[in-house]
Amino acid sequence: MQTMYQQMSDAELAAALDDLKAQVAEVKARGLKLDMARGKPSPEQVDISRPMLDLLSSTADLTDEGVDCSNYGCFEGIPSARKLAGEFLGVPAEQTIVLGSSSLNIMQDVIVHYWEKGVPGYTPWHKLEDVKWLCPAPGYDRHFGLTQDLGIENVPVRMTETGPDMDEVERLVAADPSIKGMFCVPKYSNPTGCTYSDDTVRRLATMTCAAPDFRIVWDNAYAVHDFSDTPDELANIFDIAREAGNEDRVLAVASTSKITFPGAGIAFFGSSPANVTAAANTFKVGLISANKLNQLMHTRFLPTLDAVKAHMAKHADFLRPRFACVQEKLAEGLDGTGCATWTNPHGGYFVSFDGPVGSAKRVGALCKELGVVLTPAGATYPGGNDPQDTNIRIAPSYPSVEELSAALDVLVLAVKLVSAELAQEERA
Ligand code: PMP
Repeated sequence: MQTMYQQMSDAELAAALDDLKAQVAEVKARGLKLDMARGKPSPEQVDISRPMLDLLSSTADLTDEGVDCSNYGCFEGIPSARKLAGEFLGVPAEQTIVLGSSSLNIMQDVIVHYWEKGVPGYTPWHKLEDVKWLCPAPGYDRHFGLTQDLGIENVPVRMTETGPDMDEVERLVAADPSIKGMFCVPKYSNPTGCTYSDDTVRRLATMTCAAPDFRIVWDNAYAVHDFSDTPDELANIFDIAREAGNEDRVLAVASTSKITFPGAGIAFFGSSPANVTAAANTFKVGLISANKLNQLMHTRFLPTLDAVKAHMAKHADFLRPRFACVQEKLAEGLDGTGCATWTNPHGGYFVSFDGPVGSAKRVGALCKELGVVLTPAGATYPGGNDPQDTNIRIAPSYPSVEELSAALDVLVLAVKLVSAELAQEERA
C-alpha cells in the first residue's frame, strides 16, 4: 500500500515536508521527557498489591497445609502455590514447581540444562554442530537473548493474527532435526497482543518434529492479563499434547510479575511428570528451597484463580484507559494515511506498530530527539534485526494517560515526517 505522501505531487510533498518540519521544531523546543519503552506497571498500579505485604507478620501462622514455610524443605513449592500454578498453567498441581520470582530465570535454567546435559536419552545440545530455535517475530527480545547467549541460531518465524505462521513452523520442524525448540507467548503475545487460535495450539501440540527432543517454551506470562469485556480464550496445550503422546514437548512457565510485584513475585514451571522430575533434580543441585514465605504471602493474598482474576480486574482499570488512548491517538493521527498499521489487543502489555518499510529506526531516533523514548527499533526480532525495519513496540502501561497522550502525538508526528522523507527520497 502507498502512503499518502507517495501519492502527492512534488509540490504537495514539499509543502507537507515543510509543515511537518515546522511542527517537529516546535515539539523539540518544548523539551519533553517521556518514556514509552518499558513494559512495566505504573507505580499506582503496583500499589494495589501492597495489602499483600501486611499478610505476614511476626505473629502470623507460617504453615501451609502442614508445611513449615519458615524453614528448608518442600522443594517443589508449597501446596497452595502449586495448586495455583496448576490452575495457571493447565496441569495438575503435581506437575508444577514453584520457584523464585522470575519465569525468565526458569526458562534459562531449563534451556541451559538441555544445552549441557541434553534431554534424557539424547545428545546434549552443546555437542551438536548446529542447534536452531524458532522465534516467532515480532516477539520478546529477552527470549531471543536466552538462546543467542548459548550460540543457538535464532530463526525468525512470522507472527500472524492467530499466532506463528504454522505452515512455516510445520515445514521447518519436520525437515530440520537441528531445530530443538521454539518460544511461544500464547496469550496476549509480546508485543502483538494476539492470542494463539485453537488451531494453532493444536498444530503446535501435534506437529511432526524431526528432532525427537524438540521443546516448546510455552511462556504464559499474560495468562490472566485481560482488560477488555471480551477477553481472549487460550486452548489447553497440555490436554492436546497428552492425547497426541507429546506432553514432554511442552515447558510451560508463568509468574506473578505483572500481578503482584515485578521482580518480587512467584514463578511457575509446569510440564509432563517426567520433565518435572528431571527439572526438579537439576534445580535441586543449586537450590535447597525457594522463598516459601513469599509463596505463602502470595497464596494468602490470591488463594485461587478466581481471586487472581478479581485482582486483575483492578489492574485492568489502570490499563484500559491507557490502551484506549493508544488506539484513539493512532487512529486520529494516522488512519487513512497509509503510513501505519497497529494491533488492538484485549489484554497484555503491548501494542505492536508497523510503519513503512525502512522507517522504524528513523522514527525511534527522531522520537528520542524529541524527548520520547521507545523500545529500540529492531528489538522485537532476533539479533535486533527487523528485516523490513517497520516494527515498533509500544508499551503504554507506565506513563500517565496525559504523558502517554503527549508521547503518542510525538510518535504520530515522527511517523509522518519519516514517511514523507521516505517518499521524497524515492523520487530523488
Ligand atoms: N515473558 C514475557 C513474555 C514477558 O513479557 C516478561 C516480562 N514481563 C517475562 C517473561 C519476564 O517475566 P519474569 O519477571 O517472571 O521473569
